[in-house]
Amino acid sequence: MEALVAAARKAPWPCAAEVDGAIYLNESPLRHAEMVALENLEGVGHTMRVTAEPCPMCMAAIVWSGKVERVEYGTSIPRLIELGHWQSSIRAADVINSFAPRRTIELVQVGPELTDALYRR
Ligand SMILES: [Zn+2]
Repeated sequence: MEALVAAARKAPWPCAAEVDGAIYLNESPLRHAEMVALENLEGVGHTMRVTAEPCPMCMAAIVWSGKVERVEYGTSIPRLIELGHWQSSIRAADVINSFAPRRTIELVQVGPELTDALYRR
C-alpha cells in the first residue's frame, strides 16, 4: 500500500489502483484508477489494490470484467464521506451482492491508517 499512497500523493485526485505491480491513477470523473486498470488487464484471477473502496461504477465494472478475484482497499466509503468527499454511499460489497447469479469477489480492507491521510482535507 505504501507505493500506491506515494503515487496517489502526486496525482491531481489522490486515488490510485495497482494490479500486478502496475499503478494506475484517476484520469477523469469517469476514468477512475480502477477503470483505467481494468482496461489494461489481460487474463483473469487478478488482485486489485486501491487506495479507497471502489465506488459503485468501478465495483460494477470490476464484476462485469470477470478479471479480478480479490480487491484490497484502504479508506472505506463511509470514511470518505465522513472526511467530506462527495461520494455514493453504496458499498462495494452491496454492488457485488446485487449480481445474480452471484460472482464471488473477495473484498478486504488493508492499511486504512496509511490511506486515510490521503483523503483528509
Ligand atoms: Zn470509482
